[in-house]
Amino acid sequence: MNKLVVTFYNVGHGNCTHIITPTNQHILVDIGSLEEYSISEFLRTISGQIDMLHLTRPHKDHLYDLARLKEVGLSPRILSIYRRAFPVKHLYNQRLYNSSNNQRQITKWQLQQSLDKKIQQTANDFYNIYTMPVSWNSNPLNPEYNSGVTIKIDFPPNKYINPDDQNSYSSLISIEYYDVKILLTGDNNRDMLKERILDDTSDLYSLSQYNLFENSLRARNWDVNLDHYRLGVKKNSFTDFIMNHHVLLAPHHGRTTDFCKEFFDLVNPNLTIVSDKSIEYDSQDTTSDVYNNNNKKGLVVNKMERKVLTTRKDGTIKLMIYENEEYEINTGIKGSFYGYD
Ligand SMILES: [Zn+2]
Repeated sequence: MNKLVVTFYNVGHGNCTHIITPTNQHILVDIGSLEEYSISEFLRTISGQIDMLHLTRPHKDHLYDLARLKEVGLSPRILSIYRRAFPVKHLYNQRLYNSSNNQRQITKWQLQQSLDKKIQQTANDFYNIYTMPVSWNSNPLNPEYNSGVTIKIDFPPNKYINPDDQNSYSSLISIEYYDVKILLTGDNNRDMLKERILDDTSDLYSLSQYNLFENSLRARNWDVNLDHYRLGVKKNSFTDFIMNHHVLLAPHHGRTTDFCKEFFDLVNPNLTIVSDKSIEYDSQDTTSDVYNNNNKKGLVVNKMERKVLTTRKDGTIKLMIYENEEYEINTGIKGSFYGYD
């Protein structure tokens, strides 16, 4: 039976999502990796070719293993990037390296710096090499070649981009197979998500009216009223793009500081996935509680209903969607890509 496979690898702090379409097109969204074990080495054991690599934003936790991907012979056939975000200039912080007198710390930072420079160089090399536009006939995003899988990418319009905030370049990807929809995000920040939603609705509601409207939705049956809301949403708007997905990869690794309620309410997922490593600092705190908090049913994972899965606790998460719309979700063991070894 035809199936779409979407795997969220446990890459510690970062993202690496692997989409395999029913016609065996391999699409990677981001290439974050564990430091101690290369995701590219692993991918080489299961994929002969990467048809497309999409980078949601050019930052280390999303392109850590790019150089290695090339080294193991898996340079993607197509590179999908937001060219406005390139060339990458700020991957490492020079000031940090000069701010200590501790020799061990300096040596560690110097190693880190040379690695960061290599990642930056590879990203910029890729940016310079992949300049040919891709014809629709050979594009893995063409649903005709993917047994009906639709993959759409949203790049934020220029007016929302803050050149000093790399996160603001983050794109979103919507995947649809039969009636099942999955939304992938990058490190999208809360204010920008909210601003884009409010801009979409500003023709219909002023900000205060929007809040009133939202409260009225909360007080009544959300799902029914969402249809009324949908009537007011312009086709092909950002709001239209994000609305009603079954699975959400949480923006900015599920960080509390970037939880956007308006965004979450519109996506209204059954299952949210958080891709991050264990908590070392307060700022890495994630928002499982709020992502648990909608009236949708969760999805069944290992015979239990779940609304939130995290790579830090559940390991690699593998989602299989079949053409009859049935699904299966496997989780791995913390610390390994599949957890079967
Ligand atoms: Zn990130």
